[in-house]
Amino acid sequence: MESNKLPIGSGPNPRRQSRRVTIRHGAREVIVGGDAPILVQSMTNTDTADAIATAIQIKDLARAGSEVVRITVNNPEAAAAVPAIREQLDKMGIDVPLVGDFHYNGHTLLNDYPDCARALSKYRINPGNVGQGAKRDTQFAQMIEAACRFDKPVRIGVNWGSLDQNLLARIMDENAKRAQPWNAQAVMYEALVTSAIENAQRAEELGLSGDRIILSCKVSGVQDLIAVYRELARRCDYPLHLGLTEAGMGSKGIVASTAALSVLLQEGIGDTIRISLTPEPGGDRTKEVVVAQEILQTMGLRKFAPMVIACPGCGRTTSTVFQELADKIQTYLREQMPVWKKQYPGVENMNVAVMGCIVNGPGESKHANIGISLPGTGESPAAPVFVDGQKKVTLRGERIAEEFQSIVLDYVQSHYGATEGADNSTKETAL
Ligand code: SF4
Repeated sequence: MESNKLPIGSGPNPRRQSRRVTIRHGAREVIVGGDAPILVQSMTNTDTADAIATAIQIKDLARAGSEVVRITVNNPEAAAAVPAIREQLDKMGIDVPLVGDFHYNGHTLLNDYPDCARALSKYRINPGNVGQGAKRDTQFAQMIEAACRFDKPVRIGVNWGSLDQNLLARIMDENAKRAQPWNAQAVMYEALVTSAIENAQRAEELGLSGDRIILSCKVSGVQDLIAVYRELARRCDYPLHLGLTEAGMGSKGIVASTAALSVLLQEGIGDTIRISLTPEPGGDRTKEVVVAQEILQTMGLRKFAPMVIACPGCGRTTSTVFQELADKIQTYLREQMPVWKKQYPGVENMNVAVMGCIVNGPGESKHANIGISLPGTGESPAAPVFVDGQKKVTLRGERIAEEFQSIVLDYVQSHYGATEGADNSTKETAL
């Protein structure tokens, strides 16, 4: 008999099969690859030599949800500061693993600063920036030997802004001999993928275990990134770090990163992500962590924080009450998460709806765990609140925001269960 059910979406493709790489700091282990959750990572933009400023930014990134944080290690002063940064973080109870980003002089720094090499949990090696000519192979080998000696995983991180020019020349020569040469774009893609895979194989030949290697091939164009990663995913089983390099500022950076990563994640490609946003001057570096989490959460791949569903507003919302409430609730929920995720396991599954008027307000609110339908223009000044689909109360007056926050908090405490003896001091954060 023919089914009368509507076809339903099949969700993302199964994850590409990849090796599991463990990144350790003390007792903390994070896994990249295999069936581990897709990891969120970020990078600092402080001067690493300024140990205090760097430790503070790492703490902020970790508290925002970054599961690994990368710092540049670009000179002796930076390398000398790394152990102090690690120590400071440990004192603050921040056990996030640190990755050292090395270019040009990584072989020297890892050799001359063993405490730095030890304090880091992973090294990023850019094979296009390890030296020229005969020195390239020697210096690459020195970095891999350091990874073996200190028992650290590495990311072989190719970037088309610093592609190994000798390798590119070789690929171009090979292309010229083809009966039908590829176009320049295809040659570039091939050079990127080849650089990542050949260097990973070289690292294995030098003694680094295959389950200590992560690959990336970052480019700045959305279609280029998709094409390169599809090919990289097809040709190896190393876990892949996804990111659109130089994504840019503001909405452009967010949209471009989301467009590129969503396509790949939907195809099951990608084991860890970083969103390379250019912050506004004085802007908050943790934005890149929030965006990475939101990409994964809105795609249904992971859950990090309760989701706020808010309508866009329209001519029926002529005051800013509705936007302000949506913003306050979203900020409030996110600010609570470092504590809530320990005290109230499962709270990240909660949905909160903040709706602007009666048209979709009650309906959308009933679908959420908690929803509020604010009065649109011309409606009676009352805001019904729905809890698990049932109308619980109607709020009125000047304190709707505070009363709604209180209902949300009650819901969290009663549905996700407080741990005995938990510190509830952050619950009173004002809207
Ligand atoms: S719920 Fe109301 S205010 Fe919000 S977009 Fe729809 S009609 Fe406009």
